[in-house]
Amino acid sequence: MAQSAKTKIEIRPTPTIEDYLAIIYVMERDEGEVIATRLAESLEVAPPTVTMTLKRMERDGWMASDQGKDIHLTDKGCEAARSVIRRHMLTEWMLARMLKVPWSRVHAEADQIEHTISDEIETQMRANLDNPQLCPHGNPLPGYEHVAADWLPLISMLGGEKVVIRRIHEKAEENHELMEFLEKHGIVPGALAEVTEILSFNQTLSLLMGNKKVALGFPTAKYIFVEKAA
Ligand SMILES: [Zn+2]
Repeated sequence: MAQSAKTKIEIRPTPTIEDYLAIIYVMERDEGEVIATRLAESLEVAPPTVTMTLKRMERDGWMASDQGKDIHLTDKGCEAARSVIRRHMLTEWMLARMLKVPWSRVHAEADQIEHTISDEIETQMRANLDNPQLCPHGNPLPGYEHVAADWLPLISMLGGEKVVIRRIHEKAEENHELMEFLEKHGIVPGALAEVTEILSFNQTLSLLMGNKKVALGFPTAKYIFVEKAA
């Protein structure tokens, strides 16, 4: 029993490779293609480092490319990416529900813990957390992408529209200041909001949250997905 858990962890990629796999998975999911320079931006590392790591990943069969271009995950890489994303999202829920870690902080904390969770513990977490389909920020666990498929970008709403906040994209989760700002203003999944003003020339959009007005820049608003309120 202990032996099998150990074996499964041993065939996992290193934490660094797991981080790359998760980002590549999200990029492929959302944009249909993976661009090395954008990967470097997301990981906050120098492009030559990314190139070297990608070469290693290709050698080890996690991804395939056409001479460094047209990067995509292999089946093995995709499975490993889905595994680490699941562990990350379940850890976020565990921290939020059991330890009452603030919503804006669970992502950063989970980044540290996710790599050390065995498949057995993952299964137990999933059962204990009632099989979540979304992370606390509304991003879908791998295999549940359809749950978030119909949510609309906040940026596509018109003035006067009433919406329910559903999702803050993974890319925004990396920005701690932004997450704190959203939490402070109650811009979290499930919250009701009214789009009051869209100033294209100013690249801002205003929301009414309860009786408080909050202005968001377009770069922030584009990470927020909503459903029209009934
Ligand atoms: Zn999350």
